[in-house]
Amino acid sequence: MSKAISYAAPSAKEPLSFFQFERREVGPKDVQIEILFCGVCHSDLHTARNEWQNSVYPVIPGHEIVGRVMSVGAEVQGFKAGDLAAVGCLVDSCGNCPECSDGLEQYCDQGVYTYNSPDKHTGKMTYGGYSNQIVVQEHFVLHISDKLDLAAVAPLLCAGITTYSPLRHWKVGPGSKVGIVGLGGLGHMGVKLAHAMGAHVVLFTTSPGKAADAKRLGADEVVISKNADEMDKHVNSFDFILNTVAAAHNLDPFLALLKRDGTLCLNGVPEHAHPSPNIAHLIFKRRQLAGSLIGGIPETQEMLDFCAEHNITSDIELIAIQDVNTAYERMIKGDVKYRFVIDMATLNDQA
Ligand code: NAP
Ligand code: ZN
Repeated sequence: MSKAISYAAPSAKEPLSFFQFERREVGPKDVQIEILFCGVCHSDLHTARNEWQNSVYPVIPGHEIVGRVMSVGAEVQGFKAGDLAAVGCLVDSCGNCPECSDGLEQYCDQGVYTYNSPDKHTGKMTYGGYSNQIVVQEHFVLHISDKLDLAAVAPLLCAGITTYSPLRHWKVGPGSKVGIVGLGGLGHMGVKLAHAMGAHVVLFTTSPGKAADAKRLGADEVVISKNADEMDKHVNSFDFILNTVAAAHNLDPFLALLKRDGTLCLNGVPEHAHPSPNIAHLIFKRRQLAGSLIGGIPETQEMLDFCAEHNITSDIELIAIQDVNTAYERMIKGDVKYRFVIDMATLNDQA
């Protein structure tokens, strides 16, 4: 066991605050990583505040982790002390089911998330990346390029893969007309990735002030989704729309924009359910409503390599860990450009 320090939510109603705990012994297949930067995902906020009604306290959020290897177990082959390394949303899975065999560990029924999941090693819950170090089995540790800004790489581990995976699954590329709904952490990565894949990208936002940024990030067009006239111009025209909005809203205006056989894929996991879609939108054009969960380990590595090749990182605002509660309040207002990343060195200031 080794001592670790973190910021944790003590309950749904209290702000995150300094918390000490222990990481497990480094086993033969484990990699121990000093965490340098950790992104702030809206899922962290949903979990810290028990919006999904499954939080076990204390919650140490954080699943966009980048850092440097401190030590490795005897059987680890792909990493050595001093290497850069990253961890995303998953730290374990059964390894045998059809999902694991296909490299889609995120769909394994026994998958273990990086935080707030039962941890068979400790008998407690898993504790995430708002901490100074983490111990993770090698299979779930990713390689990152030393050519990219490390802090700006962190959000690729959730926001990047969560948008990359559905864009690939629905075969987005040159000739596709793709919509991205919501310009937050996930949405801005969706815009960058869909653009790099060669699609015609339309960004849907509720924030007119984000239009210029959306174009800079790679959107060909920007639509203010509350403006029905602007929406009407795009009826029956999209191959694929990826919806990253973190709150319940009416999906019908987006379904109506899909071509025959087009797909609206949901990434957002809001606290409250969306109103049911009008099934006429599905039936009369054989449209599909789908969902997608992060991405598997092989695809996460593929995404990281794709981002290194195309020089893609997140647009970030680097914060001290002491500012994470303020960052949460700003995230709720949609006031993030476009991902908060915690500089974990500021945690050591506190120790
Ligand atoms: P975020 O940075 O807060 O972005 C969400 C965006 O949604 C906002 O920037 C805003 O964009 C838009 N929005 C419109 N109305 C909103 C409202 N009433 N409340 C909040 N946002 C609103 O969040 P994120 O980190 O990208 O995460 C988005 C959602 O995806 C969350 O629910 C998160 O839990 C979920 N998630 C899912 C997966 C998965 O595997 N499926 C993985 C990670 C996260 P505009 O200002 O442009 O309208
Ligand atoms: Zn996330």
